[in-house]
Amino acid sequence: MITKEREARFREIRDKVEAEQRLSLDDGIFLYDPEVSLGAVGELANLVRERKNGNVGYFNINTHLNPTNVCVYRCRFCAFRSDLRDPKGYAMNDEQILQRGQEATENGCTEMHIVGGLHHQKPYEWYRHLIELLHTHYPQIHLKGWTAVEINWFEFQTKKSVRWVLEDLREAGLGSMPGGGAEIFHPEVRDQLCEHKANTHAWLDIHRTAHQIGLRTNCTMLYGHVEKAYHRIDHLIRLRDLQDETGGFQVFIPLAFHPENTKLSEIKKPSGIMDLRTMAISRLMLDNVQHIKAYWIMLGVETAQTALAYGADDIDGTVRHELIYHDAGATTPQCLSVDDIRNLISEAGREPVERDTIYRQVHRDPNDYTKWTTGESVEQIAITTS
Ligand code: SF4
Repeated sequence: MITKEREARFREIRDKVEAEQRLSLDDGIFLYDPEVSLGAVGELANLVRERKNGNVGYFNINTHLNPTNVCVYRCRFCAFRSDLRDPKGYAMNDEQILQRGQEATENGCTEMHIVGGLHHQKPYEWYRHLIELLHTHYPQIHLKGWTAVEINWFEFQTKKSVRWVLEDLREAGLGSMPGGGAEIFHPEVRDQLCEHKANTHAWLDIHRTAHQIGLRTNCTMLYGHVEKAYHRIDHLIRLRDLQDETGGFQVFIPLAFHPENTKLSEIKKPSGIMDLRTMAISRLMLDNVQHIKAYWIMLGVETAQTALAYGADDIDGTVRHELIYHDAGATTPQCLSVDDIRNLISEAGREPVERDTIYRQVHRDPNDYTKWTTGESVEQIAITTS
């Protein structure tokens, strides 16, 4: 039963949100109190969601490419990585990579999401080459590739600066960067999960540099493992601070931890209630990030659909060839059709709008689905439909 004190505290937060004032660390932690109604937190998040993005539910038509799973690191939450000699280990060759580009083109994909392991026998040039290869053969596909963890590894391999690496990759055809590798920034948690890979400072600095040279990026948080509410809110505030500085984050994606086949397999995966609460609190805390994504692969289709009323305005894409979360036990389908995606957005009472990676509306040729043009920034659509 909610106490009078809690009611009063919630009212304070609601007043702040209605007045478009920024929430504090304490506000965020309070909203994680299980005695505070999820419905009330969701309603508040929905207010911000509709203020920023109207009634639209965004999606894109995309595919994933994980060129290798061999990785020098051993993050405790990772079920995807492999040792070099493990039969599970692989690294794709040019022919396999080009096949993926061809398949993406035939399926009308506007985006390829490219992330993988840090293969200690593959030089930086191999990673650069595959971007160039895809960009040369399929220039119409936007290549969103390499997390800050990979960029940090390339920095180590090349002994060049972050800026040099990012400019070199952009010259090869890189269009933007995904937001993975952020996990939880607070060292109390990060040191338990992945003490060796890019630290918080490096992750934030790489995104800062990307934004400074005009590359848009995404941002994430992996929740539902060993962290507490304090660590989650601290994480969101660090992202918010960088966004104040650069404005370069397009979308935030809260990522639900999947324990199967990881070194944390004794932990239960987060509940649907936790997923929705985290979605809503993320929307409320990140007042300067335009979009919040309910990544259906991780959340499950039903929770992702519900999340469209709890702060999320984007549901990700059709997603072909997702390996990272399916290796960790995700039971979602490997791919949704465009009709599936449209229907699940409509069923949630939102208007489905296809976007490209950098959030411009996509217009399809009615006679040939694989041909498209991009139009105005989707922010314009949200303004006209709200
Ligand atoms: S999360 Fe990434 S860096 Fe960590 S072990 Fe897995 S593939 Fe390697």
